[in-house]
Amino acid sequence: MKIILLGPPGAGKGTQAKQISTKYNIPHISTGDIFRKNISEKTELGVKAQSYIDKGLLVPDELTIDIIKDRLDNEDCKNGFLLDGFPRTVKQAEALELFLNQKGDKIDYVLLVKVPESSILERMTGRRVCLKCGASYHIKFNPPKVLGKCDACNSDIIQRKDDSEETVKERIDVYNKQTEPLIEYYDDKKIMHSVDGTQDIEVVFKSISDILGDN
Ligand code: ADP
Ligand code: ADP
Ligand code: ZN
Repeated sequence: MKIILLGPPGAGKGTQAKQISTKYNIPHISTGDIFRKNISEKTELGVKAQSYIDKGLLVPDELTIDIIKDRLDNEDCKNGFLLDGFPRTVKQAEALELFLNQKGDKIDYVLLVKVPESSILERMTGRRVCLKCGASYHIKFNPPKVLGKCDACNSDIIQRKDDSEETVKERIDVYNKQTEPLIEYYDDKKIMHSVDGTQDIEVVFKSISDILGDN
């Protein structure tokens, strides 16, 4: 199964991705996680990406597209994958389509996780993340079992620098201008399904499982 998770920052894409990836046994590919790993390892890519990420802006398409192509060429993506945070522009979506087409492949599902703008700020500013495994928590809605520690891998959880109120506002703006056009793009291709992201985490997952089926 080849899946794209679409939705504004804070919609719950990462949270759902962990569960989808486990249930359907497909790799969870998050461009945000890839960038953050490179930033912590101070690679050339990390240094380039950080200047954009800290401002809440998108990393340039050329860089991002190359990273995804590389990742999708890995053996573990042969039978499917789950893209979280990519594509974020029409140019990225077109590049992905072309890349898959050339291999006789295509995306099966685009899941649009919908939450109103009014919920996003509270979700984002209360978010805490594990940089080691990418797990996402919320101080109020989804706290870890042990304060400050990741349930999955016991590493410290932190607040992302770009989850400050000011940067989140910029990211919402960027989403509305650059990413939202993808809704029409995928709607036209008849592969998009909407999910109500305001429900409890488990209920959202149930809605997604109903769409994807049991295989
Ligand atoms: P995204 O990957 O779309 O940016 P995350 O999965 O990181 O979003 O979720 C953003 C924040 O909202 C996190 O703090 C997460 O714990 C919380 N969250 C995710 N899903 C829900 C939900 N259904 N209800 C309430 N809070 C949620
Ligand atoms: P969230 O789901 O909370 O919006 P991500 O972890 O997906 O955050 O992304 C964090 C940041 O990484 C984005 O604000 C952007 O700067 C950069 N980024 C991630 N994915 C992409 C992408 N596909 N294209 C350009 N920039 C990206
Ligand atoms: Zn962890």
